Amino acid sequence: MDIPNKIVDNHGRTLDYVRLAVTDRCNLRCFYCMPEEGIDYLPKKQLLTYEEMERMLRVLAQMGISKVRITGGEPFLRKDLMGFLHRVHAIEGINEINITTNGVLTAPHISELKELGIKSINLSLDTLDRERFFRITRRDELDKVMDTFHALLAHGIGVKINAVVMEGQNTEDIIPLAQLAKDYPVSVRFIEEMPFNGGGNNHPVLNWDFLKILDELQSAFPDIQKVADAPHATARHFVVPGHAGNIGIIAAYTRTFCGTCNRIRVTAQGGLKTCLYGSDVLNIRDLLRNGETDESLALSLLQAFGNRAKNGYEAEEQSQLLMPSFASMSTIGG
Ligand code: SAM
Ligand code: SF4
Repeated sequence: MDIPNKIVDNHGRTLDYVRLAVTDRCNLRCFYCMPEEGIDYLPKKQLLTYEEMERMLRVLAQMGISKVRITGGEPFLRKDLMGFLHRVHAIEGINEINITTNGVLTAPHISELKELGIKSINLSLDTLDRERFFRITRRDELDKVMDTFHALLAHGIGVKINAVVMEGQNTEDIIPLAQLAKDYPVSVRFIEEMPFNGGGNNHPVLNWDFLKILDELQSAFPDIQKVADAPHATARHFVVPGHAGNIGIIAAYTRTFCGTCNRIRVTAQGGLKTCLYGSDVLNIRDLLRNGETDESLALSLLQAFGNRAKNGYEAEEQSQLLMPSFASMSTIGG
């Protein structure tokens, strides 16, 4: 079989973007993502090796995947991440590499990231207040995250702040975080909280949905304006006249963007997810370790891509038959 150079799913959506979790381990314990005691980390041999990830990405790149986001767990906890990024950079067809990080271990690598041509980093930051940072992440690391923020800007790397909005925890931070976009050329994105905290679904009703977040922004910035979004953007973008950056809202729980979804996910143990809300539909690690050829791996991938749920609600319904409570986002990659 010739490997096809374009992936179109069973709903006519072209897939060109993979989010790869390189580890399930983390140095923070954000309560919306992991329980305080952490999760049962996978034994190392169950994780994809860098060689396996590279081979998988080569096959995906041949199939038309051109954009990779490295995530986790905390990607910078995985030994020699920078070496791996150089290998990804060399893959023909991959023309954009981005990283999502909590920023605690990131600052020392920023010059090298710049040399590698990484244009944008998503930095998770839910508050600018030290005590609330500690309450949310259960670690006292705000200073290191802010060092990373400033170092990224100093190196001219684009910064997208990811802030999960949590009722009773950080809604007072929405405006101070949004003000970052006043002074700096950054995108501050507010994300609806999703039920992936490793402890089951604990908010069947989401009060702080994208409409309420927008309301809050409009009351502080009455002249805030909607601007056009990129074709597959999950965030709806807004600008406040005179501000250096922009503001985004990601309806991750309300799921308003599934119709244009162009992404797949691979977990640290090689599980393929064709929807964030779905369960793993294929184990790529097992296929690689069973000696499958690139062509047969591509065929298995194509079958999975041809059987995607229409949207996150359908995927959730299907996956609940298999996994009654939600996993930690640290294993899924966000
Ligand atoms: N450790 C890195 C970090 O925090 O940026 C990368 C992995 S983390 C799982 C990826 C993204 O998922 C982060 O921006 C985080 O805020 C987001 N996230 C984690 N749990 C979430 C939840 N329950 N609801 C919404 N977003 C969540
Ligand atoms: Fe770690 Fe990121 Fe999860 Fe926070 S959101 S616990 S930093 S993986």
